[in-house]
Amino acid sequence: MQHTLRRLHSAELLAIGTELTVGETLDTNSGDLARALVALGVHVTRIANLPDDLDVVVDAMRTALTRADLVITTGGLGPTPDDLTREAVSAVCGEDVAVHPDTLAWLEGIWARRRQPFPSVNVKQAWVIPSATVLPNHNGTAPGWWVDRPDGRVIVTLPGPPREMRPMWTDGVVPLLHTRGVGADLDVRTLRLTGIGESQLAEVLGETILRRSNPIVATYARRDAVDVRISARADGARGAALLADTAEAELLGLVGTYVWARGATTWAEALDEALIARGWTVGMVECGTGGALVGLLGTLASLRRAEVQTERSATEDAALIAEAERVRTVGDASVGLAVTACPAGNDTDVVVAIVTPDGSRVEHRLAFLRGRHGADRAALAGAAVLLDVLREPASGA
Ligand code: AMP
Ligand code: MG
Repeated sequence: MQHTLRRLHSAELLAIGTELTVGETLDTNSGDLARALVALGVHVTRIANLPDDLDVVVDAMRTALTRADLVITTGGLGPTPDDLTREAVSAVCGEDVAVHPDTLAWLEGIWARRRQPFPSVNVKQAWVIPSATVLPNHNGTAPGWWVDRPDGRVIVTLPGPPREMRPMWTDGVVPLLHTRGVGADLDVRTLRLTGIGESQLAEVLGETILRRSNPIVATYARRDAVDVRISARADGARGAALLADTAEAELLGLVGTYVWARGATTWAEALDEALIARGWTVGMVECGTGGALVGLLGTLASLRRAEVQTERSATEDAALIAEAERVRTVGDASVGLAVTACPAGNDTDVVVAIVTPDGSRVEHRLAFLRGRHGADRAALAGAAVLLDVLREPASGA
C-alpha cells in the first residue's frame, strides 16, 4: 500500500482492558514499552489506560493519531467479544476486516495439534485490514498488527499478556521501527548528585535549562541520589553526542562539585572502585541507624567488618574517631568508618568519623526526617563522606 514515509519521533501508548481501569491489573506493558521507545529515541508523549469499550478506544485512538507519529496499543486482542482492539483499528482506519488465510491456517493448526475442534470465536484472531501487516505471535494465539496510515503515521497493536507482548515487540516491531529510521542518534546520560536537594538543584539549573526540549535535562529524586538525566537527539548537523557533551559541560560547571557518579552506579560500586584504587579495605560501625549502613554497603567487596550498635546519646568527636579506629583495628582493615544517628526534633543528627592511613576526619550533618528515613540518609552521608575522603589526592605519594 502507498504511504508517506514519516520519521517516527513521538508515540502514544494505549493500554486496553477493563481489568486495568478497575485496578485489578497493573499496566506494566506501557512502562516496558516506554522505556524501550525512549531508548530508541522516540518521545513518549502520553500513556493511557482504557476500558474494553469500543467508543472509548476508537475515540482515544483517533485523538492519539492527531498528535503522535506512532500509536501503540496493548491488550484487547483475545478471542472474546470484550476484546475489541481490532474492531477499533478497523473503525479508525475506515477499513473492513477480512480473514487472513495464512493466519487462520496457523490458528487451526494449533487446535489440530491438540486434536480439538477449532472454536469459531477464535476466527477473529485471524482478522486483518488491508493496511495492516500481521505480527506473528509465537507465545499465544493473538497476532498483532502493524498498520501504516496514509499520512505515514503507524498504529501497532500488541497482545496484553506481557510474555506475549515483549517478544512480539522485540522480534516483530523493533526491526520494523529501525527500517523506519527511529532511534539512529540519541545520547542519554545520567549524573548522580549528593549533598544537594532536588529543589535546590532545580534552582541552580534554572528554568532555561530545565525547560529546554533538546537536550532534555530532567532531575529525579532517587533514594540514594538526585539524578540529572541529559537526553540529546541529533539535530541537523549536530550529532547527539556533541549536544550531550555541551549540556554536560554546562551542568558540570554549575553543579559538578555534587556529582559522585554516572549512569546507574550504586554507592557500593563507587566506593569499591575508590577503595580498590587505593588498595584499601574497610571496617565500619554504625550506631542508631538500625543497620542502614550495612544495608547500603554490606555488599562492598572491600568490607572486612561491619558492626551495628543501638542508639546512644550524642558522642564527642574524639570518641567517634576512637570508634572508627577500633573497628579498623579489629577488622584488620585500612579504613575505619563510624556513623552515629540521633534524633534531633523531626530530623536526625548525623556524625561521620573516618580514619585512614593518611589521617582522620569528622563531619556533622543534619539528615532530613527521623526514624527509618533519617537512618537511610545517615548511611548515605557516611558513604558520601567516605567517598570524598577516598577521592582526596593521596598524601605523600
Ligand atoms: P487481553 O489481551 O486484553 O485479553 O489481556 C490478557 C491479559 O494480559 C490480561 O488479563 C492481563 O493479565 C494481561 N494484561 C493486559 N494488559 C496488560 C497491561 N497493560 N500490563 C500488564 N498486563 C496486561
Ligand atoms: Mg482484554
